[in-house]
Amino acid sequence: MLQKSRFVRQLLKKARALVLCLAAFGSASSYAVDVSGVRFGQNGDTTRFVVDLSGDTQPKIFLLADPYRIVIDLPEVSWKGGGAVNTMGIVDGYRHGLFTDGMYRIVLDLKNPAVVANAFTLPASNGRERRYVVDIKPSNRSQFLAAVQSSKAQRSQYRTTVQSAPAVSNTRRKDGKHVIVLDPGHGGVDPGNLGVIGVHEKVITLKIARAIRDELKRTGRYEVHMTRNRDIFHKVRERFQIARRLNADLFISIHADSIRNSKVRGGSVYNLSEKASDREAERLAARENKSDLIAGVNLDVVEDDVSGILIELAQRETMNYSAQFAEILVGEMKGRVPTLQRAHRFANLGVLKAPDVPSVLLEAGYLTNRSNAQFLNSSRGQKLIAESTRRAIDKYFSTIVIQSR
Ligand SMILES: [Zn+2]
Repeated sequence: MLQKSRFVRQLLKKARALVLCLAAFGSASSYAVDVSGVRFGQNGDTTRFVVDLSGDTQPKIFLLADPYRIVIDLPEVSWKGGGAVNTMGIVDGYRHGLFTDGMYRIVLDLKNPAVVANAFTLPASNGRERRYVVDIKPSNRSQFLAAVQSSKAQRSQYRTTVQSAPAVSNTRRKDGKHVIVLDPGHGGVDPGNLGVIGVHEKVITLKIARAIRDELKRTGRYEVHMTRNRDIFHKVRERFQIARRLNADLFISIHADSIRNSKVRGGSVYNLSEKASDREAERLAARENKSDLIAGVNLDVVEDDVSGILIELAQRETMNYSAQFAEILVGEMKGRVPTLQRAHRFANLGVLKAPDVPSVLLEAGYLTNRSNAQFLNSSRGQKLIAESTRRAIDKYFSTIVIQSR
């Protein structure tokens, strides 16, 4: 069994090496452009979206269907636009944030199909800044789909934003350290859910991840990486690909949940499964898997890099490890941090799909419950979560993994 799994791992590594293609988006921006504000206006059936820019830049604009969205890509601007602005007309909502290094994205959600009737830049004049103006007119589905096609060329070309990790041999590392990859959920243009205390999930997940990282590093036993250490977006798939490139021993994706019932509180740990363990787990997977959609990722690009059979072989072993770690983590959380009664759950979560890296998703608690949200946002709460996680990782490597090697 051991030999077989080693063989599979080697094969997977080779397959991966063949297809790993890193093409960072553009080059790091040398622009120093500020966005000082955005606003919406309505004139007849045309909705106008205006972006105030401090400098010269050529935004890219394209459309994505299902749901209907307009995506505007800018170089890495600094957003000084203040608070949220009311949308108008056909625009239902908008969001913005860093999408990759060097690229800032604005996504407009549309109520109905529409076309971009006009998109142009007005030069600075009479004390007013340069403005990027987009006029949006209602259309029908077939016109929208045609516009999606014709705007394809504008889509930003990127594969992954993450710098190539140093190749790590699959044999035991010289320093004997286990590699842990922490994945703070959401980020950049995908804020995650907004808790009752007015702090976005993406902010809290980063704080928790940093606390876990510090706690693990203090032991001297782990090499710790984070998929992001600032407010930036990553595609779901990119997140676990980072762990694979680093040959991680463990991948932990960190989130904070939301639910209609504001009384519900407590953390839980998820493993990957085709079938959800319950209705709430199913709803959770639907929410968490939407991240790419929210950020305006073009989902018709398929990037398959290993064959199905290899994945299946490795996945069985990986899932076994993942489930054992989840059990241990739940055990360590109980009594230290608020935890759901049934805290080990299963759902079809895209971020847990690395075939060869044991992975769990930690839903640290509910942002819809005031005391739970305050706990997650406090350094005391983060410290307790970090301690539980560190204890679980210690236990996992000293018992489960040792026994099986
Ligand atoms: Zn989340």
